[in-house]
Parts: sequence; structure tokens; C-alpha cells
Amino acid sequence: MKPVRYLLFTDLDGTLLDHHSYQWQAAEPALRALERAGVPVIFTTSKTAAELAPLQQAIGNQHPCIAENGALVVIPPHYFHSAEQQVHYLGEPRQTLLAILARLRDKGFQFQMFSDLSVQALSELTGLDSTSAGLALQRQATEPLLWQMGEAQLEHFRHELAAEGLTLLAGGRFLHVMGHFDKGEAMAWLVNAYRQYWGPGTLKTIALGDGPNDAGMLMAADYPVLIPGARSAECVIDHSRLRHAPAPGPKGWNQSVLALMRELSIVPA
Ligand SMILES: [Mg+2]
Repeated sequence: MKPVRYLLFTDLDGTLLDHHSYQWQAAEPALRALERAGVPVIFTTSKTAAELAPLQQAIGNQHPCIAENGALVVIPPHYFHSAEQQVHYLGEPRQTLLAILARLRDKGFQFQMFSDLSVQALSELTGLDSTSAGLALQRQATEPLLWQMGEAQLEHFRHELAAEGLTLLAGGRFLHVMGHFDKGEAMAWLVNAYRQYWGPGTLKTIALGDGPNDAGMLMAADYPVLIPGARSAECVIDHSRLRHAPAPGPKGWNQSVLALMRELSIVPA
């Protein structure tokens, strides 16, 4: 019988990366153990593909990644069958979103969106350095915004977006305007790609996240881990195997992953 193979999907901000410092080093023991055991770690984030590339390089991650809350899946060259980088889109092009948002603004809704912001302004708002802020602005299929009106108007705004086939998803800092997809859907697409590539055998998934935009991914996983954070209480997961990390950010990530690897007997190949 073929051994069980695992894929690990992880949110970044507040999960693998510290919410404030964006550091991941506390998770290095678990990251190394996964690499040695042949478990791909798939970054699954609201970040852009442009932001992910240098981060993957810094962490030494050479696996596919899921950007912009599931809007796109990026597969590196020579990873599956193709010598070229492959990008699979689940979301509409950003220009379509921006046109709809411009119409809603004309109707009187007030919000600040990424396309309004300079690199400098985004840097001040998020604490990202200017290089990272520039990469964060290179969006392809979602638009984050800061809401500048009350809750009642926000509900009205949600309805207007729904009429356009769009949804509003709460991330760590921003509300993300996007199509009807989520991290879980992109994850399912990628799991299927691995199944086809790896062939017959059992494939199980581990997922880690800390916020409402991780719910779909956590629900879809065989082994979901909720990382405690500012918005983890809003992340309602009805899953019999849900576990809670003992600490926020990369420290909790490290402990939970190492514990899961022991329990599931995930060892170096
Ligand atoms: Mg997060």
C-alpha cells in the first residue's frame, strides 16, 4: 500500500508570519521538518503573487502558492508537467472590479481602496516597507479597501456588490472585494492538480489560518489548525478535527505542526 501523502496549506499574516513584525523564524523547525518529510507547504494568502515571490525565496519555499485569497494559483516552472510557470485564475480581472467600485463610489459610498493609494500611503497604513508596499499594490483579481462609513451603509454596499456578482471578505486589516471564490476553492483546485500528478494513493491536507478569510480553507482540510489572533473568534469552523494552536503566529504554527507530524507519523522520507 502506498503511504499517505500530505499537503500543507497556510495563511501568512498572523499565521506563519507574526502579525506585527512579519517574521516567520519561530516556525523554522517545523518548516524544515516538513521539507525533509516531503510535505509541500503552500502559502495561501490575501497577498499578491508579486509579494509572495520574494517571501518564498527568503523562506526557501519552492512550491505552488495561492494569492489574493484564492483568486489565482501560481505553479512554478518544472513543478508538475510544464517547463513554464502556470497561473490558474479563479477571479475576474481587477479592471472589472475597479470599474464596478468606481460606479459605487459615484452612488455615494465612501471607502479608500488600494488603487487610490501611493506606495508611500500604503506603507504608512500597513507598516510595510516601500518595496513590499509596491508589491502589495500589484493586484490582479481582488481589491482591498478600508470602509469609511457606518455598518448600515456597509450592508447596503454588500448588497450592491452582490448584485454585481462580487463579495466582500474581511481580512486582517482590509475588506477584500472579490468574486465568488475563496482560499478553500483554490486549495481544492490545487489538491486535484497534485492528485493527477502523484497518481493513485491517499492524499490528506493540513491547513493553518487565523481569520475569517481562512474559514473555507480550514473547513476543506483534513486537519485544520486555528491560530489565535485578533479575528480568530470570527472564524467559525464546524469541523470535528479542528485544533487550536497554543500561541499566535509562527510560534503556535511551529508547535502545532510538529505535534501534528508526530501524531500522523509524518517523518522524513
Ligand atoms: Mg491571517
